[in-house]
Amino acid sequence: MQFDNSYLQLGEPFFVEAQPKQVRAPKLLLWNDSLAEQLGLSELQESKRAQCFSGNELPKGSEPIALAYAGHQFGHYNPQLGDGRAHLLGEVIDHDGQRKDIQLKGSGVTRFSRGGDGLCAVGPALREYLMSEAMYALGVPTTRCLSVVLTGESVYRQKVHKGAVVTRIASSHIRIGTFQYIAAQQDKVALQALCDYVISRHYPEALQNESDSVCALFEAIMNKQIKLIVEWLRVGFIHGVMNTDNTAISGETIDFGPCAMLGVYNPETVYSSIDRRGRYAFGNQAKIAHWNMAKLAESLLVLDGEVSRLEPLQQALNQFQPKFEQAYFVMMAKKFGLQDAQEQDKDKDKDKDKDKDKDIIDEVLLTMYQKKLDYTQTFSLLTRSLSCEKSRQKVNELLGDVYTAWMQRVKSTNGNLQDIQRIMAQVNPVVIPRNHQVEQVLGEYEEHENLKPLRDLLEVLQNPYVDSEANKLYQHPNPKYDEHYQTFC
Ligand code: AMP
Ligand code: MG
Ligand code: MG
Repeated sequence: MQFDNSYLQLGEPFFVEAQPKQVRAPKLLLWNDSLAEQLGLSELQESKRAQCFSGNELPKGSEPIALAYAGHQFGHYNPQLGDGRAHLLGEVIDHDGQRKDIQLKGSGVTRFSRGGDGLCAVGPALREYLMSEAMYALGVPTTRCLSVVLTGESVYRQKVHKGAVVTRIASSHIRIGTFQYIAAQQDKVALQALCDYVISRHYPEALQNESDSVCALFEAIMNKQIKLIVEWLRVGFIHGVMNTDNTAISGETIDFGPCAMLGVYNPETVYSSIDRRGRYAFGNQAKIAHWNMAKLAESLLVLDGEVSRLEPLQQALNQFQPKFEQAYFVMMAKKFGLQDAQEQDKDKDKDKDKDKDKDIIDEVLLTMYQKKLDYTQTFSLLTRSLSCEKSRQKVNELLGDVYTAWMQRVKSTNGNLQDIQRIMAQVNPVVIPRNHQVEQVLGEYEEHENLKPLRDLLEVLQNPYVDSEANKLYQHPNPKYDEHYQTFC
């Protein structure tokens, strides 16, 4: 492993040095071969894997730190969060030349633990591995997991659980909360250093063509956030805890604590046990990302005399909603096979077509909502209905008149049905990590130490867009519609 730890150059306000806890009996539970290969870790001996990624043995060149950050949690500002149970081992350059953070989670207390035990139970560790790999295979920007290692020690929550360390790989762990933390200290020099660092690490294009690289950086981050949320909405992902400390500057999905997948289409869907008011409901996620971006803008105002950037940042922020709506429409048009709509043509006819498409999209979604139809399955059926009579009959029964309207519209576009179906199949997954299946495979491990169901599910989720015999059983929604389903942090 060749470490190249650039974050350290930012100095102490951004992190504290911190050693992972020694654990009693590290045992490798999951190892991500393809990710290991990408990181240049294939050579690492089996016996070393558990040692390294439990925190017992530090790989050469690693300089472990706990990151400092603040954040708004459910709308309330907390000035001092930080890695309370994670250790960033360092950065490596992967096979694609991309810089990646390697971070242990559940690796013991740090200066930021605030009374927490610094540990992670094996259930949530496996859940993060499963969900992030599923998202990766779905094509959604996300952090990934390299491994889950049992520690051989107990973790006390409502009951006693096995402890584990999960290793997370991310483009970086810089969050909106990182900016908030430095801004709150009114440390302009450090804040400028952070901006410069983020530009060079994530958004080098912000240095070009713009009079102000900070505003350009803000816009670039916002564009990535919009893309991310649109992707979540495409696959039916509900993050569940979109606090500003869980919003990665890179635009990757991070922190898989209480996340879940949408079953029946309903924008108000909330599964997180702590989200009592539905702040982070499925259909609220764009609004929250917008709100979070406002918090980033506020932090950037600290840089120098508020007057100078207030207006440009406000202007950029005002673009969130229209930009999101446009990106959401383009995504939805693809899900519905309404290709023409994607060409943003200026002429009047195209505008009219766009309105027609919007109407159809809204109507189908409304019907799905009213009839409590499964989001993923309905789009799969629509896709298949272009070539399969049985699917056509089924979806026609489910959707009624709007199906006919949709079909007419699809046929009036320029593409042939085969091409349209191919495009739809690329954006409409056949299998997703269904909540009841995720719970079931985690339960199998917790209760019987049987990891096979989880491995099988992981395997199936590698090819979410392929309708195959192997994944037939995994395509079904929860027969009980995930009623009363709850997730926990
Ligand atoms: P999260 O909700 O996972 O984003 O965590 C919010 C904050 O709580 C972060 O600062 C975490 O590091 C911290 N935290 C969560 N669980 C623990 C734990 N078991 N021990 C110490 N800190 C924790
Ligand atoms: Mg977090
Ligand atoms: Mg968490």
